[in-house]
Amino acid sequence: MNTDAIFNPTNWTRTFTDEGTHFHFRTTEGDLQISITAGDTRRAAVKTRVYIDGEEPVDFTEAERLSRGAGTYQRGECLEADKAWDAGNRQVIKNKKARAAELINELPLIAELLDGVKLSFNRKAGCSCGCSAGFIADRVIRATAIVPSWRKGEVEERYLPIKAISVWTAAKA
Ligand SMILES: [Zn+2]
Repeated sequence: MNTDAIFNPTNWTRTFTDEGTHFHFRTTEGDLQISITAGDTRRAAVKTRVYIDGEEPVDFTEAERLSRGAGTYQRGECLEADKAWDAGNRQVIKNKKARAAELINELPLIAELLDGVKLSFNRKAGCSCGCSAGFIADRVIRATAIVPSWRKGEVEERYLPIKAISVWTAAKA
């Protein structure tokens, strides 16, 4: 598989937001769903976000137990609990990184897009409230996509900045 397999005229949808036009490319590889959102080149691009799942889950039972025992989830109120939460969170990052490495091995498309890219995990990658944790690339990743031209009914190749790459495991029926 190469990037042509996803960035082609058959699998995009387009949305118009106040940040400009977004193209959404979707494909499936085995039981993995891959979704890529590219922005419009006319707008300033931000560093690409990478969201993945399927990492080894981390057990926070002990941290929960300690916080509940201390009667507070407030940081600084219970050193034991803080330590347990910190250790758990470090493990989450480790597991996410291991999973990212696995996906790069398994998916040539992802390997191609992330070639030479450094990823840092950030709880607030997708939203300042922390609801969408993910990786932030050290640059704007770009790829050539075949998208509709401004001339109606025609397509053209455009080198688009990628806003987000998501890889997730499809829910098993
Ligand atoms: Zn949020």
